Amino acid sequence: MQIVAATQNLHKLREISQITSQFGMELVPMKELLGDLDIEENGETCRENSLTKSRTVCRLTGKAAIADDSGIAVDFLGGAPGVHSARYAGGHGDDVANRRKILAEMVGVPMKDRTAQFICVISYVHPDGTEIVAEGIVPGLISLEERGTGGFGYDSIFIPDGYDNTFAEMPQEVKNTIGHRALALKKLHEEFEALYGKQEEEQK
Ligand code: IMP
Repeated sequence: MQIVAATQNLHKLREISQITSQFGMELVPMKELLGDLDIEENGETCRENSLTKSRTVCRLTGKAAIADDSGIAVDFLGGAPGVHSARYAGGHGDDVANRRKILAEMVGVPMKDRTAQFICVISYVHPDGTEIVAEGIVPGLISLEERGTGGFGYDSIFIPDGYDNTFAEMPQEVKNTIGHRALALKKLHEEFEALYGKQEEEQK
């Protein structure tokens, strides 16, 4: 099954395709079909932004599209940066500045009050009108300082519940199993099985 990935973020693309390949889905980066298209993300939730991206790419390519919108919500900061995670420090996608901003705003905050959640909303839109939205949430803590060199974005300041290491200190396979993106993609896969598995049965 071929799906156009509605993202220009190479880190996300790599992570999504590592997971979707296990489910027999082939991802085609939107850049291959649409060039450097910039889709405006001005929704108030990750769900809205995710659907805007998958619907736009499906409409422009005439093919099934998958989009990811994700972010981190820090309880001490009233849920910020949330849907504004990509541009928290100003410039779009300045990961280093975004991480520094969160750590600076939390100087002196004890571990017990550093709770946060990573959220990922994956949406799938097919030209036949089918739409599926799947969400993955991972609770955890904001570390006291940056730790680890793997991953991207906020990975080096996020310690998932049940672990001592940040996402950036873990092997990618572990994040691909317990991470917010992996959880959302697992749900999408279950929806696919319910939808397309059933159609295959009916065609027999
Ligand atoms: P958007 O989904 O493209 O709006 O970007 C969301 C923001 O959250 C970006 O700043 C990403 O770097 C960050 N982000 C999204 N997913 C992850 C992740 O898996 N790990 C770390 N940061 C992430």
